[in-house]
Amino acid sequence: MVDESAAAAAMISTAEREAIEDRAWVHGDEVDVQTAVVEVAAWMAGAGAVVALTGAGISTDSGIPDFRGKRGVWTTNPEAEKASTLGHYLSSTDVRRRAWQIRLASPAWTASPNAGHQALVELERQGRLDTLITQNTDGLHIGAGSSPERVVEVHGSMRGVMCVDCDERADMRRALDRVTAGEPDPPCRSCGGILKATTVLFGEGLDPADVEACQLAAQRADLVLAVGTTLGVYPVAEVPRLAQATGARLVIVNGGPTQQDDRADAVIRGSISEILPALVATP
Ligand code: ZN
Repeated sequence: MVDESAAAAAMISTAEREAIEDRAWVHGDEVDVQTAVVEVAAWMAGAGAVVALTGAGISTDSGIPDFRGKRGVWTTNPEAEKASTLGHYLSSTDVRRRAWQIRLASPAWTASPNAGHQALVELERQGRLDTLITQNTDGLHIGAGSSPERVVEVHGSMRGVMCVDCDERADMRRALDRVTAGEPDPPCRSCGGILKATTVLFGEGLDPADVEACQLAAQRADLVLAVGTTLGVYPVAEVPRLAQATGARLVIVNGGPTQQDDRADAVIRGSISEILPALVATP
C-alpha cells in the first residue's frame, strides 16, 4: 500500500514489461480498441463531472514498479512489505533503518509524470475533472500539474514525513538528507519521536476526510474513469458502485483484467499512457 517499498525493486524497462494484450469492450461486446476509444472520448466530451480513479498502473510507464505483479516490489523483496506494516515499523529499529534506505532509493525521486498523468491535467483544464482519487503515493499527479485541491491521495504521500508522537510534518527530503548525512533512523527534532512517511501503512486507518471525499465525488460523478487499478481495494473499489447507483457511466482503462470489468460500460485494455491522451483529446 505504500511507496517506500517501491524503491526495492529494479526499474521496469519497456522491453521487460509483460506483454499487454490490446482489447476492448463496449457494453459487454468486444470491439476493436480504436472503436472503443472513439466511443468513450465522446462520452467524456459530454460529461460534466468526471471522477478519475488511479492506481499503480498509471505510474509504471514512469518507471515506478507496482507491488504485487511478477516483478512487483513485495514479490521480489518481502522485507519491504514488513517495513510497510505499522507494528513492525514502530517496534523495530532495524525495520526503520531499512525503511529509510528503501525511501532513499525510491525511483519516484527521479521519475517524471508520463502522458497518462498529463492527460488528466488536460481533462481538468477542460473543466471536466471533478476529482482525481489516487491509490498512488508517488506524488506524480500533483507533479504533473493536477490541482492539489482536486487530488485525493487515499494512501497518503511519500513526499512528506510526520512524527508519530507529536504529528509534526515536514518535507521528506529534509529527513532523507539527515539519513544521507549519517543518521540511520532520524528522530523528530521537536520531541525525539519516531518519524514515518505520510503514507498509510498496513495496520493504519485511512483518513476519514479522504473516505468522505470519495463518497461525495462518487455522488457527483456522471462518468467514473478507472485507470491502472484493479478496483479491489476500499475505498476506491466502492466508488464505481456508488456512482452507477446515481446513473454514472464506468470506464476502465488498464493493462489487464480488473475486479469490476463486468460492471463497466466500457473496458479498454492496453497501454495507459497511449490510451488516456486519446480519450481526453476533444473528438
Ligand atoms: Zn515529534
